[in-house]
Amino acid sequence: MIAGFGDTGLLVAINLGRDFDIVGVSPKPCLVSGQELGMRLTQPRLWKQDYLMPFSRFRKLDGVRTLQGLVTTIDTHRGTVTAVSQDGESQAEPYDALLISSGVSNGFWRTNAVEDFDTINESIDSTSRKLLQAQTIAVIGGGATGVGVAANLATRHRQKLIHYFFSESQPLPGYHPKVRTHVEKHLRSVGVILHPGHRAVIADDFQCDRFTTSPVQWSSGQANFNADLTLWAVGKMAPNNQFIPPDMLNADGFVKTDDFLRVQGYNNVFAVGDIAASDPHRSSARNWGYRLLGHNIRAHLQGRDSDMKRYEPPQYRWGSVYGVQQNGLRVFQPDGGSFRFPGWTVRTLLFPLAVRKMIYKGVRKA
Ligand SMILES: Cc1cc2nc3c(=O)[nH]c(=O)nc-3n(C[C@H](O)[C@H](O)[C@H](O)COP(=O)(O)OP(=O)(O)OC[C@H]3O[C@@H](n4cnc5c(N)ncnc54)[C@H](O)[C@@H]3O)c2cc1C
Repeated sequence: MIAGFGDTGLLVAINLGRDFDIVGVSPKPCLVSGQELGMRLTQPRLWKQDYLMPFSRFRKLDGVRTLQGLVTTIDTHRGTVTAVSQDGESQAEPYDALLISSGVSNGFWRTNAVEDFDTINESIDSTSRKLLQAQTIAVIGGGATGVGVAANLATRHRQKLIHYFFSESQPLPGYHPKVRTHVEKHLRSVGVILHPGHRAVIADDFQCDRFTTSPVQWSSGQANFNADLTLWAVGKMAPNNQFIPPDMLNADGFVKTDDFLRVQGYNNVFAVGDIAASDPHRSSARNWGYRLLGHNIRAHLQGRDSDMKRYEPPQYRWGSVYGVQQNGLRVFQPDGGSFRFPGWTVRTLLFPLAVRKMIYKGVRKA
């Protein structure tokens, strides 16, 4: 059973292969990736080609059963989960091994709302249209999402004023210092107006899940800021843990995992991705945690627990921050370096070979 069939749950299913009966539960009928919000907002058509895909397009998911709905309970004594479908019908599903990969809800781009494909598709377009109608845009939040949105807006819409606010002296806490400096320079070079040292006042009942138009106030003491539209990427996220037994969760509501990405205290329950408290950065979504779990769950189900591998996270965060740009795709490394896939390789090698063939092991044409 895979509870949460997003970026990582889907990849674990692909890596487990066809020797098992796999059931994935997802509120969406398709992969809706949480990656590259900047591209999603500024080039929605292109973003959808790579990050919005019906499950039926993944060759290795042939034979995998998907249930559209939400997991509502886990019964570890009986070895079952209960899933409730869109029409309110509830269904108990037995498991030999359970993977929790339910991620987090964050902003308007990562939700656990049960939605159909057309609704998801249309809301991606309408959100983009709404943002691009604004002339002066404030982006708040120093993480990769905020940087990506600010950079993509400034690069593609040079006539707009993009004001970028973050609370530290540089964006990207948790990334290598060299990466932080590199990104700061890049943002300036594309015309983003940087506002370090700004901490916004956020009302308790505001989930940062929509654009706002009222002036932004700062608890760090600066004057209010007026933008046509403000996008909030402050990491006000909520773990999707409503169905997870409390003893599996740490004080912040994330799943406690051991070195093998197994839930502490349970030998047949595993967790990966943004919900898993695997390391301080909760980085198992992007360090091949899904590959490791393909191996570890297989080892467990075949009675070879001693063959499980340990998850070894790097000290610093890494990955793409801007998404695909005209000159290619830059990937920052944990040691502070970076490399760029040149523009011509993105559509000829990177997506068709590295992503679709190697990571997803085969994707059918749309
Ligand atoms: C191949 C790959 C490359 C990446 N590259 C980068 C990068 O370059 N830069 C970067 O910053 N990050 C990168 N990331 C990481 C990425 O930003 C996120 O960390 C990742 O999308 C989180 O995946 P997830 O599966 O934990 O969550 P999600 O993709 O959000 O999936 C969780 C799913 O579970 C569903 N769900 C919630 N509640 C329930 C429930 N009760 N029952 C059933 N389902 C539920 C959610 O609705 C969602 O569909 C990468 C990730 C991957 C896999």
